[in-house]
Amino acid sequence: MTREPILRAPVPTPDDDHDLRPQRMEEMVGQREVYARLKIAIEAALVRREPLGHILFDGPPGLGKTTFAMCIPRHLGVPVQIASGATLKAPKDLIPYLTNAEERSVLFVDEIHRMHKSVEEFLYPAMEDFRIDITLGEGVNARTLNLRLKPFTLIGATTRTGLISAPLRDRFHMREHLEFYSVGELAEIVRRNAVKLQIELTDDAAELIAARSRGTPRIANNRLRWIRDYATAKKAGKVSQQVAEQALTMQKVDHLGLDRQDRRYLETMARIFGGGPVGVEALAHTMNIPADTLVDEVEPFLLRSELIIRTSRGRRLTAKAFEHLGLSPDAFGGKQATLFE
Ligand code: ADP
Repeated sequence: MTREPILRAPVPTPDDDHDLRPQRMEEMVGQREVYARLKIAIEAALVRREPLGHILFDGPPGLGKTTFAMCIPRHLGVPVQIASGATLKAPKDLIPYLTNAEERSVLFVDEIHRMHKSVEEFLYPAMEDFRIDITLGEGVNARTLNLRLKPFTLIGATTRTGLISAPLRDRFHMREHLEFYSVGELAEIVRRNAVKLQIELTDDAAELIAARSRGTPRIANNRLRWIRDYATAKKAGKVSQQVAEQALTMQKVDHLGLDRQDRRYLETMARIFGGGPVGVEALAHTMNIPADTLVDEVEPFLLRSELIIRTSRGRRLTAKAFEHLGLSPDAFGGKQATLFE
């Protein structure tokens, strides 16, 4: 018998996907290698009655980092606490989580790269030896108290491994990178979730939604919800490929799955910066969007689709991107990049 985990803190980001989030790793589609490795580590921890080693998940948003992190304590039958890196500004913000952690329980820290440096350093002995040093009082009266913690498992999630310092990274026993999903995997997610949301879909409609979801389950779910609304409002009944296409066209999702923001990024680069190279800060200022949003949410899929490349001098558009926008690179003085320059 496994106990249901106890959620002690509110989920850090609004979980509008609660009804569609897989509850067990077996229900997750794709990421089979990650799943297989986690399964072994979990089983070994259960057999040895030891805490599972610390795990770091990285990859673009919406690929299943939180889903994995929430399934693991369920498999282990242990409680989980949830924290967000952005709210951990000083060691005192982390102390309650550490002292509350029960034996073998899980502490999930989302956006762990946003944790303050002082918190990170405070975490090292907690991760390594399950102890922390707390300073009481100030000045000459200050004393250091060494506190033992119950052995626990830290699960971190980040969209930016590059921002995680080497000492923190090295303290994770497993590091798992989540990749974009194939169209086939997303179609499977769409078909399953259509049943949960009680939408009737033809197979080719599911394939179309999958192909336009930028390799990301969260986006596939959002597209599916929109198509459900569209079909309801239009009294469309069973959703055919044609209806799905109309619904996505109305939302300005193109045949590569890019939305308005993605195309605005590409167009800004083409029209204002002649196809680059341009730094992400300049693009962010011009578009009036935080650079972090571009780096975390927009660029990963454009890079993977070979619409942009990163060079030492900044981002550049590829010939494929100009073609996708229906623009000629020459018209903008563009020096379009090939992937092999
Ligand atoms: P991340 O933490 O990486 O931003 P989440 O774990 O919150 O992403 O995933 C977003 C949503 O996508 C989940 O709520 C779930 O509905 C769906 N999802 C993610 N990964 C999978 C998967 N492997 N199989 C099925 N659905 C998934």
